[in-house]
Amino acid sequence: MPIGSPVDAAGSRGPLDDAQEQLRHAVDVLGYDEGVHRLLASPRREVTVSIPLRRDDGSVEVLTGHRVQHNFSRGPAKGGLRYSPKVDLDEVRALAMWMTWKCALMDLPYGGAKGGVTIDPSKYSAAELERVTRRYTSEILPMIGPTRDIPAPDIGTDEHTMAWMMDTYSVASGHTVLGTVTGKPVSLGGSLGRASATSRGVVLTALAALRHLGLEAGGSTAAVQGFGKVGRGAARFLAEAGVLVIAASDEQGAIWNPDGIDLQALEAHVEQTGSVVHFGAATGIDNELLLTLEVDLLVPAAVEGVIHAGNAGSVRARVVVEGANGPTTTSADRILAEIGTLVVPDILANAGGVVVSYFEWVQANQAYWWHEAEVESKLAERMDTAWCQVLAEADRLRLPLRQAATCLAVRRVAEAHRQRGLYP
Ligand code: GLU
Repeated sequence: MPIGSPVDAAGSRGPLDDAQEQLRHAVDVLGYDEGVHRLLASPRREVTVSIPLRRDDGSVEVLTGHRVQHNFSRGPAKGGLRYSPKVDLDEVRALAMWMTWKCALMDLPYGGAKGGVTIDPSKYSAAELERVTRRYTSEILPMIGPTRDIPAPDIGTDEHTMAWMMDTYSVASGHTVLGTVTGKPVSLGGSLGRASATSRGVVLTALAALRHLGLEAGGSTAAVQGFGKVGRGAARFLAEAGVLVIAASDEQGAIWNPDGIDLQALEAHVEQTGSVVHFGAATGIDNELLLTLEVDLLVPAAVEGVIHAGNAGSVRARVVVEGANGPTTTSADRILAEIGTLVVPDILANAGGVVVSYFEWVQANQAYWWHEAEVESKLAERMDTAWCQVLAEADRLRLPLRQAATCLAVRRVAEAHRQRGLYP
């Protein structure tokens, strides 16, 4: 098992330790032996590659990339590809494990995987990013494919990245393979509704959580951390559902307006300036302060570990809906449970993306595409089923939602493994 990391100032040891602790707890609740625990704790396959890149000025740089396949007991591995300067192997391992639980929880016929390249994409041209993507893809080529491991976008990557990956894989195969990756452009075998799916799923679970607490969407308030693909859509769909979004943020800062933010105007401002800061119709506030605002819904939709032992006690939201993967550390989870905050865990709240990735893969494999309304209603059905199952499990085991969701998912994966048996 990967060795533990040092504790940081906020009391967290990093996402991999959080992921391992969540698994350890589920294994204890389910009463599995150490053999099963070790099997689920260890990635099945992982590769680290060097990516030599010729920059536009002719100089050469060597980047590092990873692909971790955590598990494939239930089907091909599935998970995004992240481009970020903070990417390291342990982060990718944690994200791959969470993908296994997410896919099992949503009852998708997939295992879990994740990829990452240590790069700040904002500092590279589109042509350079294309060369990085194609070289990374060719380095991991034997591992991926529609029946092996199906990448998708994550932080720092998008539909263009997926088009380059699909093309690189297809050229090497000698024919076009649309099911190689998901999150592709709609004009290239992507699915209608994929781009907004994660945000839609976040809002569907947020509204279910409000109903569970006896609250109406109209009159409820929300703060959204992160204004990328997930946060931006979540804020818009929350507002459409009648929730007053009173704060939003990105890496550069946060803004707050207790009367509600005009999201259309904010999106236009972000298009123009590249950031939410200096939005006229709101007050600039500290990023940390956004997490402690008195709201009904707090939606962390950026990166891991933002709610930690150092600030969890100050969270005043009634519900935390995790748009990001791993935004709450395990020590923060314990504090939030003590103060009675409902946490809708990432593997449920942000699963809309991979659910519609699954729909995209099914459509691409059949070469038969669905209407957007069909995608959206099938997504809503999946999210509702998973929400009800997690709630029932939490009730039955008397556990917080994250632990219940992890137990449900781990049980499904362990059961698939048991039925397949050990070879040889
Ligand atoms: N990167 C997204 C996630 O973390 C989507 C993964 C996928 O669609 O495979 O869930």
